[in-house]
Amino acid sequence: MERPMRHASEHIFSRLLVVAAACVLMTVATEALATTETLNAGDGTVATDSPPSANPVPVPEPSEETLRFYHSGNVLWIVKTFWALFVPALILFTGFSARLRNWARAIGRKWFFVLGVYFVLYLVVEYVLDFPLSYYLGFVRQHDYGLSNQTFGQWFGDSLMGLVVAAVMGVLFLWVPYLLLKKSPRRWWLYTSVAAVPFLALVMLVQPILIAPLFDDFGPMKDKTLETEILQLADRAGIDGGRVFEVNKSEDTNAMNAYVGGLLDTKRIVLWDTLLNKLNREQVLAVMGHEMGHYVLGHIWKLLGLLSLLILAALYAVHRTMDFVVRRYQHRFGFSEASDVASLPLLLLLMAVFSLALRPMAFAYTRHIERESDRFGVEITRNNHAMASALAMLQDENLAHPRPGPLYVLWRAWHPPIAERIEFVNGYRPWAIGQSLTYGGYFRDP
Ligand SMILES: [Zn+2]
Repeated sequence: MERPMRHASEHIFSRLLVVAAACVLMTVATEALATTETLNAGDGTVATDSPPSANPVPVPEPSEETLRFYHSGNVLWIVKTFWALFVPALILFTGFSARLRNWARAIGRKWFFVLGVYFVLYLVVEYVLDFPLSYYLGFVRQHDYGLSNQTFGQWFGDSLMGLVVAAVMGVLFLWVPYLLLKKSPRRWWLYTSVAAVPFLALVMLVQPILIAPLFDDFGPMKDKTLETEILQLADRAGIDGGRVFEVNKSEDTNAMNAYVGGLLDTKRIVLWDTLLNKLNREQVLAVMGHEMGHYVLGHIWKLLGLLSLLILAALYAVHRTMDFVVRRYQHRFGFSEASDVASLPLLLLLMAVFSLALRPMAFAYTRHIERESDRFGVEITRNNHAMASALAMLQDENLAHPRPGPLYVLWRAWHPPIAERIEFVNGYRPWAIGQSLTYGGYFRDP
């Protein structure tokens, strides 16, 4: 489903990973940490009492507001992407990065602390330079389109919390790639990628218990009947000891959201209260069927694998270009070695360029797993109408374009276009024509 806004905690993850492997596949990395489904509030009631067959849900026509949101969003995406390249370039080519490193040396003295101080200084400078755009995108625009209920204070608090979490992670982990750059200038990209795998797994493991609660209020589900039904569905999907959490989110946003997060023992199904308030019981179960698909089909592990490969590819590309760029511009940059921490903006800049190039491949894969989950959800609930109507509500209320253009799909679409999903869900009924289910082998008898 669509993602109308970047949640504050997601922003941190991009930072986290920047730090972690000293490399970011910005959006890709972010998204992999929680396979988030954002649904939005619907005021229309949808009849789901009727049998799901012969009752296809039409794809809603996009409203004028949706089209405006889509077109302005595309322009803003280009601005944001350009800005994300411009800021590190500015800090590099003005020699400001070298100056930051000198201050960091004066304060930190020892190598490890110099890295940490540099990173915090860099993060603060970047935060300040990014602030007007992130304030507009994350706060003003969300209110203009009625997608957020947050006060400025709440938004700013989340934003600062993101900065603090990123700073802590950076101080803890940035030394890995820089030590490797110094000790193994030819293979650092390989070792860093290998080290990133357990780190990413660790972040995914602790994220739901240590990081997510900094931003949201997690509690048990209030509707015990529905919780029982969700757990019964989980049991049929072959998920044992599944845990369901409800997030009190209605004071921040109208957006609806449900996701599977965590790893191993911290794996969990999370529902925002907004989703529970707006969708009916059958629609909630249909959405849960999709989420359980992610869970059962091991999508979290697959995304971890994909992310590791992307990091490897991007770091290799950085390795092949970084020394050349440093030699070429060393006088302007004020440093002559890639292992100098002042090179961090260059590392981030090159990572941003290469991850932009790799993104279409990554999103093609995420769209594939989303299709798998749609299929799984329909097969386990057999409630085509509930799923399709939930998707249609999401499209309307989320201001999601049902049929975005090909460039949007290639570079920005984690999920397949909603029109495609609704049409698939409407028509996918293998049990009605005696065909076997693709994922029937995963299901337990009720
Ligand atoms: Zn999904």
